[in-house]
Amino acid sequence: MRDTLTEKKVRLAPQTRRGKPTLTLYVCGVTPYDSGHMGHAFTFSMFDVLVRFAESGGVRVRYVQNITDIDDPLFERARRDGDDWRILAERETAVHMRDMTALGWRPPDVMPRVSEEIGRIKAAATKLHAAGYAYRTDALYFDVSRYRGYGRLSHRTRLSMLRKLREEGLLGTVGPDAKRDALDFPLWRSSAPDEPSWPSKFGPGRPGWHIECSAMAMRYLGDQIDVHGGGRDLKFSHHESERAQSESLTGKRPFARAWMHTGLVRYEGRKMSKSLGNLVKVSQALARAPAAAVRLYLVSHRYERDWDFDWAGLTRYARLIEKARAVLKQPDGQAAPALIKEFNAALADDLDTPRAVRALRLAIRRRDAAAVRWMLSILAGSASLV
Ligand code: ZN
Repeated sequence: MRDTLTEKKVRLAPQTRRGKPTLTLYVCGVTPYDSGHMGHAFTFSMFDVLVRFAESGGVRVRYVQNITDIDDPLFERARRDGDDWRILAERETAVHMRDMTALGWRPPDVMPRVSEEIGRIKAAATKLHAAGYAYRTDALYFDVSRYRGYGRLSHRTRLSMLRKLREEGLLGTVGPDAKRDALDFPLWRSSAPDEPSWPSKFGPGRPGWHIECSAMAMRYLGDQIDVHGGGRDLKFSHHESERAQSESLTGKRPFARAWMHTGLVRYEGRKMSKSLGNLVKVSQALARAPAAAVRLYLVSHRYERDWDFDWAGLTRYARLIEKARAVLKQPDGQAAPALIKEFNAALADDLDTPRAVRALRLAIRRRDAAAVRWMLSILAGSASLV
């Protein structure tokens, strides 16, 4: 696996937990306000290939994916549309679950929601404050100057971090009643009147974004995790900050043995985004092609690269699934060992799914039903072939 932090391939050696080789995986899940587009589906399908591949090799995977139901974009959307944030979050979480079920994922073992984890999050913030990693002004802020190596994960300079914060609308203000430094970020802050609020020793309010994931990852997977994943746009500021907090909390490095980031999906030459109005929804793709074709089309791309969604590409995979279906009508024999070996070698090499898809094409051409079935069970999961 290629680790974002060291920019090197690291070997994912599963640790023995309760007598079984186990891999722990935390993937940042959706903020439920614009779920259900191809960008999300790409990320979560890719991690599903990782989970299924590890499990096919006898490794137990403990997989946690959160739901960020306490976050600015969700509240802003709810306010704009005159919705209750809870109803919006509930509706969009249901869309996410429906899409990923259709795309045949092996569901995460735990899907914690921030709104149900407030106690743990407060405890983490309190501990950071007590240990001198956080200070209180108009909110409780993490003091980035106390953590060596902030910026190392995303390979950004201070200037480039500040630029990204501005783009994300997270720059805030620096001053005696605010942040000491522009890179500092809130662990606990006050809530607007229409936002949820919980009592705390730092005043009533709600958590900052990054501490949520630190607290949930550590609650369900321990102080150190094997793989931490998410979309590339989360590298900074989210994961950079998560790493700083978690390592400051436990004193243990690294927080994640490997950081794995997925690329962005473009449409018509531009990043898919709600604001540009160029989102392709999973439901639109499912209306045109079998779920297994959508899934195979997604995972036919390298996980870390950006790529362009296009309908002709989806059609090609619909045809491939049709051919696979014809092969699967034949009785299963013994899968050709060379085909299986090539397929496994592809995925073991930094999850090279395009190469694994080529192995699948070859198995289809050779009409090797057993090999096709095996490869599809990992690449397409339980997505329907019809
Ligand atoms: Zn996260």
